[in-house]
Amino acid sequence: MTREEIYALLYDDAEVYRPPFEAESALLEVSHGCSYGRCFFCDFGRDEFYHFDFEDIENKIKLLSHVIDGSDRLYFLGSNPFCAPTGKLLRIIDLVRRHLPSVEEISMYARADDINRKSWHDIMRLKDAGVTDLHVGVESGSDKVLKLMNKGETTHDIAKALDTLESCEIGYNLTAILGMGGYRYSAEHAEETARFLSRFHPISIWCMALKIWPDTPLYQMAQDGRFEQMTPLDVLKEERAMISMMEMEKECIYVDSTALNKYTISAWLPSLKDSVLENIDRLIAQAEAEL
Ligand code: SF4
Repeated sequence: MTREEIYALLYDDAEVYRPPFEAESALLEVSHGCSYGRCFFCDFGRDEFYHFDFEDIENKIKLLSHVIDGSDRLYFLGSNPFCAPTGKLLRIIDLVRRHLPSVEEISMYARADDINRKSWHDIMRLKDAGVTDLHVGVESGSDKVLKLMNKGETTHDIAKALDTLESCEIGYNLTAILGMGGYRYSAEHAEETARFLSRFHPISIWCMALKIWPDTPLYQMAQDGRFEQMTPLDVLKEERAMISMMEMEKECIYVDSTALNKYTISAWLPSLKDSVLENIDRLIAQAEAEL
């Protein structure tokens, strides 16, 4: 079989979605869609949720062994594969160990409530088996904004999950969504998200501007005036405000590839905070000059 034929068999979905930090990772389909699926802004919420059959995953791991090329990191695809029963995840990891010996790190997306539903003991078993870090969507540090977007979790729930990961010494990568509170909650979203992120020690923070996808509840909210989407320039100003208030204790990589819909902001925080703010100020001045 050629590599192209193997890749065609490896991924059922036409488009494979993974965080930018996983660009170099080998990818394994473990689940499809999101077990929650009710965030108003999310277009993955429309996808049917299911875990792939164990036999299917086993076949894909065997296929992956022909193309993995010694990669030491494996990313489980799906919006929240961590919601799978611990026993199933451990069986999958056992197969990874057997067929993909080069893999040293395993990561995937988890909702905070997926983490909170598992016992500390089960999370430690997953860590010991090779789960080195997780990706967790914070989206906002403001409970008002989380409620507005029907996130189904509070900042208390997310903080509890991150505290558990810290106590298990599992790393975490966080995402936040700029402009998610619209104009109404922009100042609060910036301040509370900065405060929330600063309480923790993420490996990375991935920020992106809110996008309003057709056929989502948020699209309807924007259509009938219940949500006022911010302009890219105002989103960038919100991001500047948020970063200026962030006081990260531990170095983490910060990335936003959506600034003004065309620029990428990428820097280590807190060490490069001043230079990031200077660069954002330049972008804001440039965009205002073009108005
Ligand atoms: S938890 Fe994540 S994937 Fe699931 S609906 Fe919300 S934003 Fe989408």
